[in-house]
Amino acid sequence: MARCGVCFRHCEIAEGRIGFCGARACRDGEVVADNYGLITSIALDPIEKKPLNRFFPGSRVLSVGSYGCNLRCPFCQNHDISWSERAFRFKEEAQYVSPDALVELALGYRSSGNIGLAFTYNEPLVGYEYVRDTAKLSHEAGMKNVLVTNGTAELSVLEELLPWIDAMNIDLKGFSESYYNELLGGSMDMTLRFIERAVADCHVELTTLVIPGENDSEEEMDRISGYIAGLKGTDGTEIPLHISRFFPRFHMTDRPPTEVEKIRRLVGIASRKLKYVYAGNV
Ligand code: SF4
Repeated sequence: MARCGVCFRHCEIAEGRIGFCGARACRDGEVVADNYGLITSIALDPIEKKPLNRFFPGSRVLSVGSYGCNLRCPFCQNHDISWSERAFRFKEEAQYVSPDALVELALGYRSSGNIGLAFTYNEPLVGYEYVRDTAKLSHEAGMKNVLVTNGTAELSVLEELLPWIDAMNIDLKGFSESYYNELLGGSMDMTLRFIERAVADCHVELTTLVIPGENDSEEEMDRISGYIAGLKGTDGTEIPLHISRFFPRFHMTDRPPTEVEKIRRLVGIASRKLKYVYAGNV
């Protein structure tokens, strides 16, 4: 039995079993990344798809995902690789790619505009050791590293990664602890601490997915943008915010997509306090 120190859940994992996220296991009395190097998805994506609009615009980035997640967003777009109830199947379908092999692959795409690696699709922090080891090699090869994350991890995990990560897109899914706790199975407090530490050392852009009837009020967007306006980026500029449209899927099919007009209104609200605000999925 061992206790995992990666996220707020602090799972106690019995020998040979996996934690809540489906990605970490107890082996020989220690918690390890059971998904280390196990890749389920890979694509050469435009950097704007991460989304990152102010980090090497127009470039591409080799994007990889493994499996597992520590949250339970009912509208997850990547539930086929994130929800741990299917971890046994993910593991069978994933392919092992060593850190060296992934860096070699990324280097091979340089002539196609690739600037490096993005760790994305599932929650990368539940297997942060692979991110750390691979990103270090990628830096040594002169490439950039991007992390796309829910930001729900202990600062000790972030500190291990920060030397090797050049840019992050972090979800700020809403601005109430009850929304995080009750709908997403997350921790807003842990996410805010993560964001505040990350912006000090790394290019950060934030994303809020707007769910009709949940986090779509103008008042909530005003509070989100006020919080972001108080953050200081590494280069002294403001932190960009992506406000994204929801589409019904997975366990949340009881409501329509977010209206485009609603997204435009919320972009207007956020733009009162922020310089860089982008509408997503419109
Ligand atoms: S990272 Fe996974 S195993 Fe570790 S505490 Fe969080 S949910 Fe549990």
